[in-house]
Amino acid sequence: MTTYTPMMQQYLQIKEGYQDAFLFFRLGDFYEMFFEDAIQASRILEITLTSRDAGAKDRIPMCGVPHHAAQNYMDALLMKGYKVAICEQVEDPKEAKGVVKREVVRVITPGTMTEGKGMDSKTNLFLGSADLVEDGTAILAYVDLSTGEGTVTSFRGEANSLFQEVLSLQIKELLVAENLSLLLEEKAMNSGINLTTSSELQLAEHEQSLQHLPTFVHPTCSRLLHYIHTTQKRSFLHLQPFHYEEKTHYLSIDYHSKRNLELLSSIRGGDTKGSLYHLLDHTKTAMGGRKLKQWLHYPLASKVAIEERLTIVDGLLVDFFLRNELRESLHEVYDLERLAGRISFGNAGPRDLAQLQKSLQQLPLFKAALENSTNPVISSLGESLDTCEDITSLLEKALLENPPLHVKEGDVIQNGYNSRLDELRDAKNNGKKWIAALEQKEREITGIKNLKIGYNRVFGYYIELTKSTISMADLTRYERKQTLANAERYITAELKEKEALILHAEEESVQLEIQLFQALREELKQVIPRIQQVANILSEIDVFQSFAQVSERERFVRPEFHDGRELRIITGRHPVVESMLNSHIYVPNDCILTEDANMYLITGPNMSGKSTYMRQVAITVIMAQMGCFVAAERALLPITDQIFTRIGAADDLVSGQSTFMVEMLESTNAINGATDRSLLLFDEIGRGTSTYDGMALAQAMMEHIHDTIGANTLFSTHYHELTQLEHTVERLKNVHVAATEKEGQVVFLHKVMDGPADKSYGIHVAELANMPSAIIDRARVILHDLEKTSALKTPLQKQKSEQLSMFDASIENELLAIQIGQTTPLQALQLLDELQRKIRLSS
Ligand code: ADP
Repeated sequence: MTTYTPMMQQYLQIKEGYQDAFLFFRLGDFYEMFFEDAIQASRILEITLTSRDAGAKDRIPMCGVPHHAAQNYMDALLMKGYKVAICEQVEDPKEAKGVVKREVVRVITPGTMTEGKGMDSKTNLFLGSADLVEDGTAILAYVDLSTGEGTVTSFRGEANSLFQEVLSLQIKELLVAENLSLLLEEKAMNSGINLTTSSELQLAEHEQSLQHLPTFVHPTCSRLLHYIHTTQKRSFLHLQPFHYEEKTHYLSIDYHSKRNLELLSSIRGGDTKGSLYHLLDHTKTAMGGRKLKQWLHYPLASKVAIEERLTIVDGLLVDFFLRNELRESLHEVYDLERLAGRISFGNAGPRDLAQLQKSLQQLPLFKAALENSTNPVISSLGESLDTCEDITSLLEKALLENPPLHVKEGDVIQNGYNSRLDELRDAKNNGKKWIAALEQKEREITGIKNLKIGYNRVFGYYIELTKSTISMADLTRYERKQTLANAERYITAELKEKEALILHAEEESVQLEIQLFQALREELKQVIPRIQQVANILSEIDVFQSFAQVSERERFVRPEFHDGRELRIITGRHPVVESMLNSHIYVPNDCILTEDANMYLITGPNMSGKSTYMRQVAITVIMAQMGCFVAAERALLPITDQIFTRIGAADDLVSGQSTFMVEMLESTNAINGATDRSLLLFDEIGRGTSTYDGMALAQAMMEHIHDTIGANTLFSTHYHELTQLEHTVERLKNVHVAATEKEGQVVFLHKVMDGPADKSYGIHVAELANMPSAIIDRARVILHDLEKTSALKTPLQKQKSEQLSMFDASIENELLAIQIGQTTPLQALQLLDELQRKIRLSS
């Protein structure tokens, strides 16, 4: 190391502490990277790799980016999942003895970004921390550093379900201890989540801020706070106390269900279009958009809380004027949460504070409008709103309208705010007036009409004469300064004197403005919690008006809740599917699950609408528990605690498991987690395996859910045989989605009707497709035969199982007796034939 120059030694020393990050090393106007960092960064960022003499024998690799454009390069690295450590010069190079002192001032990681290209205004960017406790509890804490919101939740689960929660919240970076890191490594890699192993826990340090939380979540939260403090090294006044989201307080929906039900993004395409979020989002602010997403993640599970939300939506739906007023005011509200973050970080600029001012100016309007409502919940929302008039008036007094982006451009601080600033501005203005007067005077003296006084950075103020007019002037009064192609520029002593005054006043006033602005920003740090509280109320109002808006547009109705478990949706629709149908209309359907019949077995041909129907029920339950109106004529609902779905072919790219395995895992998850207050949806269970196998599993699952769980359940199947279960599974009811034929075409009616579907439907479709009648007739005979002979004629009922095993046993014995090594192929065929005959006879 001694062979390197002192600066390079300093670099290496600093880099030592940040092995996992690109070290942006400030050198004058550039951030430089060296060695391996430089080689990698030059590739990733497509910038030129150069080299530098660093005192040692060989030159070292180097690349750099200009500091004013650094953000773009950092964004590019962060978006690819890398970390960036920013190392600044922390003393004035002019005053430095030897090498300028440098320090890492901040480490930016994918989960600690607070601005830049990787940020979407309507999406939270979360940094998470997770633990698995030995008793089977999963703990997940997460923070959005840009808004300061922190949440911690715990639930029963293992690595898999914990990771699904991480996925569903779109947590960007997850902090875990070593043991969990090993379990999650591969999943994280496959899904682009950045896993950071960190075992350092400074519990005592954070004790105070975690007091309100159950102690078992402290280590998880501490790890998060510790990481934030060590990487960010800056003020975090806007970091709010963690909010503990208890599992029993919300309707829990696992990751696959959120995906399958397309709550936040559509499965095809993966963007928000086609999702429930997209349909419901009529929010006016970014905060509202984020709040809506949070509510989609955590629909409520308390009747009182749900009714309160519904009452507000109801009020806004009825009171069109109020809603419009709120929408108009919300339009003027900026992202207060992220503004509070920027104030806390100390990087809020004049425009940010102007946005804050404009937003806060709306508060009295909000308050008055809400308080005037005849709806008591809405008016009390108004009463709870802090109008922050002291903050607004401070900002109004301090800031000029439409300030520039940066304070150093000047003209930020309002006149009358600071007397010295006023004096300086006067001096500047007077000087400028004097110059304008001088121009006038000189024109009169010389008689040159186009004489003008101009300014440039190099020569300051000058008098300019065009070549053709020079002869008219008395040049002894002027001193020549610059010659242009067709003009000469002069100065006078008087002009320079005034110029000095003006420039001095300008410089001093900008310095003063910077000081005043910083002081203002400091003062605002004190009121961050108040701004956040207001932000929270406004974002909720935004979601409420959005719900009212969409409910009006889509003809939604207020759902009713009761304490029982009955679920009655009358004339229900799937609002997202409905909104996407352009030419034909959506066929509404009822769903009535009572205490006596709370399981539907749904049959019907492919594409008839079975899965849409099941999703529609789940979507209705979710919307209702979010506090939104629902797509139905009437909905009487229980409070549902969990929704589990097994719908469609979930392509589980993350864990790389087979579709059938995923199907079984999800089903297991549902069966283990469900209670009699849950809603279960199973679409075509057992499709991924052989008929017997799949049917046996489906039947056993239904029986189990019926006998031991008692959850409201919708089950769709193409195993027609299962419809027989209605006779033995007490609370099971057959329904089918009707299809018919019209002029030789299959017509899907999408209508859910009582009873099982017509089983020879497939043959019927073949007939419609003009398959030769000989084949159709033959198929009918075979079907008839199969129905007569097949063991599948009716599902295996419990009382028959003994008989079944005896029958099984005789065949089993024969099979086991075969000496395969001594059997010819012909004998084998004969044996098979014999066995088949026996099966036919015995059934
Ligand atoms: P299945 O699960 O029976 O194969 P789907 O539920 O996937 O059928 O529905 C197939 C298509 O039929 C959907 O994409 C949708 O366009 C349409 N559809 C389903 N239900 C309805 C309905 N109630 N009204 C109108 N169109 C519907």
